[in-house]
Amino acid sequence: NSILSSVLPAPEDPILSVYYACRDDPSPVKLNLTAGTYQSEEGKPHVLEVVRRAEQQLANDLSWNKEYLPLNGLADFNKLSAKLILGDDSLAVKENRVVTFQCLSGTGSLRVGAEFLAQHHQQRVIFVPNPTWGNHPNIFNMAGLSVEHYRYYDPETRGLDFKGLLEDLGAAPSGAIVVLQACAHNPTGVDPTFEQWEKIRKIVRSKSLLPFFDNAYQGFASGDIDSDAQAVRMFVADGDECLIALSYGKNMGLYGERVGSLTIVCKSEDVAKKVESQVLLVVRAMYLTPPIHGAAIVTTILKNSDMYKDWTIELKGMVDRILSMRQELYEALQARGTPGDWSHIIKQIGMFSFTGLNEKQVRLMAKEHHIYMTYDGRISIGGLSSKTVPRLADAIHAVVT
Ligand code: PMP
Repeated sequence: NSILSSVLPAPEDPILSVYYACRDDPSPVKLNLTAGTYQSEEGKPHVLEVVRRAEQQLANDLSWNKEYLPLNGLADFNKLSAKLILGDDSLAVKENRVVTFQCLSGTGSLRVGAEFLAQHHQQRVIFVPNPTWGNHPNIFNMAGLSVEHYRYYDPETRGLDFKGLLEDLGAAPSGAIVVLQACAHNPTGVDPTFEQWEKIRKIVRSKSLLPFFDNAYQGFASGDIDSDAQAVRMFVADGDECLIALSYGKNMGLYGERVGSLTIVCKSEDVAKKVESQVLLVVRAMYLTPPIHGAAIVTTILKNSDMYKDWTIELKGMVDRILSMRQELYEALQARGTPGDWSHIIKQIGMFSFTGLNEKQVRLMAKEHHIYMTYDGRISIGGLSSKTVPRLADAIHAVVT
């Protein structure tokens, strides 16, 4: 008699099923453009040189030990992470109304924030963009929030559906939580302009919505840490509340180290203290304390001005390589006379391109050309190289003609 035999299989995850299909494809020329990780020009996982240096320094530093961190993680890490997103001279930080928790990368930070909101916020509705990163609904549903969508992308213009976005946020119930991707929107590669952000801020504040920023790609949109933080800083500058989940997965290439932070900006020091005490209860019940290694790497880099500078140079290098891959792919399609306007490939921002290929074409790309992408037609530009661009362009040309 089995207690567990009545468990039903989970529904297939569309992203993972493409990933497995690629893994099981024996073709020597297969190309995996599904995952949002930056690869080197040789198509290999890329570890930043400054990360290697920080790890060497840590290995030689005998003052480190393996005791538990505090529930909220490394204190210096939290201070430096708040500074990274809010800026050097943030008034909210000076006024002690910001609390930061070292969490398990972007996902863990979103989950801890969601769990806290599900327990303490009256309005349990959370709005995410349509489309958005596929894991957002899972994270928020699991925490007990009810997920709704706001219009974001217009397939006709391959740009932002700004009117739809404002209408949907304007019609959201007062107090609803709204997830805003801080920059380099996944999967569309389409971000609001700063003027549009200001209009979004006004509507969010006038409707008393609670902004929850997902900041998974800081630095990956423009190549500059501060420019990419601008939208978040506009909201923080008005003195009102918000939550921010920050990931070091992409901008430091620390995907598997699971290092990130949840920052909560409150209206007063008193509120911040109460919020902190409740988030610590959530953390304690979920995993007690966060892991040391990734946070130690990040702290070593952010603390040291030479290493910080070297990091920003390497980050800019990754962004520039992605930009040149966009350009090469666009030019390769132009050279083949591939029907359609492909300028969105060079206009879109960040790690991904939303190609506009439909599911049937995506399946053909896999079956006939051994090139894998998500069913919504999203490719990871960070997974391309000058060697693989011509094959990708040939395959796109073949499936659209
Ligand atoms: N948010 C968005 C928009 C993402 O694209 C990702 C990674 N794909 C994450 C959060 C979380 O990434 P991680 O947990 O690895 O930091």
